[in-house]
Amino acid sequence: MYANESCRELGCRPVNDMVGRVDVLNVEAAVDHWKARGLDLSALLLAASTLREQGKGQKISYSPKVFIPLTNMCRDRCGYCTFVKSPTQIGAHLMIPEEVLDIAQRGANNGCKEALFSLGDHPEWRHSEAMEQLKNLGYRSTPEYLAAMCRLVLEQTGLLPHSNCGVLDIDELRMLREVNVSMGLMLENVSERLLNRGGPHFGADSKRPSLRLETLCLSGEMDLAMTTGILIGIVVAIIVGIIIGGFAPTFAVKFTILGDIFLNSLKMMVVPLVILSMIVGITGLGDIRSLGSIGGRTVGYYMTTTAISVILGVVLVNIIRPGVTFTIMYFFYFNRINKL
Ligand code: SF4
Repeated sequence: MYANESCRELGCRPVNDMVGRVDVLNVEAAVDHWKARGLDLSALLLAASTLREQGKGQKISYSPKVFIPLTNMCRDRCGYCTFVKSPTQIGAHLMIPEEVLDIAQRGANNGCKEALFSLGDHPEWRHSEAMEQLKNLGYRSTPEYLAAMCRLVLEQTGLLPHSNCGVLDIDELRMLREVNVSMGLMLENVSERLLNRGGPHFGADSKRPSLRLETLCLSGEMDLAMTTGILIGIVVAIIVGIIIGGFAPTFAVKFTILGDIFLNSLKMMVVPLVILSMIVGITGLGDIRSLGSIGGRTVGYYMTTTAISVILGVVLVNIIRPGVTFTIMYFFYFNRINKL
């Protein structure tokens, strides 16, 4: 049986082949599925859709939840994180029980069913201020305080707690298991390479894949419902970019409008910002005679940095030769399509 006619025309494997294999899925079969590419992958995806249709139909369920950011301090500093704050930054916060209860109660009054606790990973391990705040509230660690807040919300509002709090040891998992219907931990990536200097997880020890996998394994052994996810958006974007740019360059050109909008927005903001900064700087000088020497130094600095940039650009362009590889790749893909 084929999922649809185009699948037959494409030469995919019949769906019942794949479904049959799913029924007897073992490690070898799982690896086989994982390696599926091209038409096999299409057939696998169609088989998965068919199974879902058979089992669950088209129903999508969801649970309205209220978001409780218990603390935005964290022991780590991931390069892309816009949530985290150090204790000295404006907005750094550890919610007190009254704040937690207030948000939870308002969520419950508005029909929420779950309380989603989201927080940084063990901020007290990095920041003495975070440890001090926890002690003042009567707790020794963030997971201990989190467990108390989950219990508070559960008992006072009836909302079901779900926590995303990073890497945990077995004692912390046991403690939180008592007061959480489920927990979350993003695996994010299985590559240790991202921890290297210059990588997005450099210095972020909690993002070590082995630690995250250990927490996930422990939660599995404890029968603790743990949701996890892998950030595939970036990979998908790169693949889609290569496919669209390589196979349909004329279609890809239509997306240049997005880049134009972005650049024009930047220009729209940058010019007024520069002019206003200059006005504020000049008016703040007090003695207008000093403007001459500052102007001279600025021009000298501008000319020097521009000369360095131009020389660097020319040297790098000759070494890297940007665009040459793309032409060869495109030629390769184009030939391949013609042969197919
Ligand atoms: S571990 Fe999470 S909260 Fe902490 S810095 Fe990284 S992304 Fe942000």
